[in-house]
Amino acid sequence: MLKRYLLAPGPTTVPSEVLLSMAAPIIHHRSPDFIPVLDSAKKGLQWLYQTKNDVLILSSSGTGGMVGAVNNFFNKGDRVLVINGGKFGERWTKICQAYGLKVEEIIVEWGYTVKPEIVKERLKKNQGIKGVFVQASETSTGVYHDIKTLASIIKEYGDTLFIVDAISALVAHDLRTDVWGIDIMVGGSQKGLMLPPGIAFVSVSEKAWAKEKTSKLPKFYFNFKKERENLARNQTNFTSPVTLIIGLNESLKMLKDEGLKNVFKRHHKLADATRKAVQALGLELYSKESPSNSVTAIMTPTGIDGQEVYKNLRKKYGITAAGGQDKARGKIFRIAHLGYTDKFDIIIAIAGIEMVLKEMGFKIKLGTGVAVAQELLMASEDI
Ligand SMILES: *Cc1c(COP(=O)(O)O)cnc(C)c1O
Repeated sequence: MLKRYLLAPGPTTVPSEVLLSMAAPIIHHRSPDFIPVLDSAKKGLQWLYQTKNDVLILSSSGTGGMVGAVNNFFNKGDRVLVINGGKFGERWTKICQAYGLKVEEIIVEWGYTVKPEIVKERLKKNQGIKGVFVQASETSTGVYHDIKTLASIIKEYGDTLFIVDAISALVAHDLRTDVWGIDIMVGGSQKGLMLPPGIAFVSVSEKAWAKEKTSKLPKFYFNFKKERENLARNQTNFTSPVTLIIGLNESLKMLKDEGLKNVFKRHHKLADATRKAVQALGLELYSKESPSNSVTAIMTPTGIDGQEVYKNLRKKYGITAAGGQDKARGKIFRIAHLGYTDKFDIIIAIAGIEMVLKEMGFKIKLGTGVAVAQELLMASEDI
């Protein structure tokens, strides 16, 4: 028997409580039965997003939310700034270009975080930028971008929207939509929210809704104005993903029971223990600064292929982590501590890494990283 452990940065493990809630019979999305279900999900998402803004619920993977964040607020030829520090930053560029926007990029070396002064300078020099796009957590490199500081810079520009892909950061990082001034923030179900893949969330500020009025890009499936009107009466524009929304209410309930502050604290502690444990093994983090609390990207020792580490973890020990993407392929592997994870998930991950690396010929004293993680997590009665 090979027991499976899902420690990838999405999809993540779905708790039994959520799975069971989703076993309920389907109700009709236009019937009165569904009204309180969507109402509760809508309010719960506003709580999680720390916002009074509408948080739209879309039937799509996270990328659908990213597409909607572009085609509902901009026009062909609009100049926008994309902070591109990895695979997902690149995705913003591709989506914007697909809709005919003029993209200017700030290329950030993989493993590093964007320097806010660079964004400040670019906006000052380059008037007329209609939107700034960034990831909160760049999942491909395990780096967190400083959303609070970036928001404070962009706020100075009344005509510029700040759009954040928080698909992997939501739940793991404290993102204060209203206090900081994030205009559009995209989330997804299969990461921190402990749900199966299939729904995306997008919060939209009043500043962004004003822009929506002037956007002439084609829209049909992702039509945010229609979604907003439907949301006001606890509906979605098309057939609602009823089962996933029922599950969402359960996962939001679990997060509420834990408390938002504790949720962030848990993610921070698990991430910190993971980082220190792998460093104790003599491994280096791929994120040279501002490591994310959602996922840890670890460099493989010289002579060892990261993809092989990932494959061996899965094949021999049932641990599904992640490899590297594009230029990081073969050089790194990634362990997520996102959503339904606790101290023993970290112990399992570190133990697995030790065993696999030892088998692959890397000099390791078994238990070194595990002991570091145990010490750090043992003291945490609160998680
Ligand atoms: C997972 C992820 C996405 C893509 O989400 P899909 O659900 O696969 O469309 C986008 N951005 C980030 C930062 C992610 O981690």
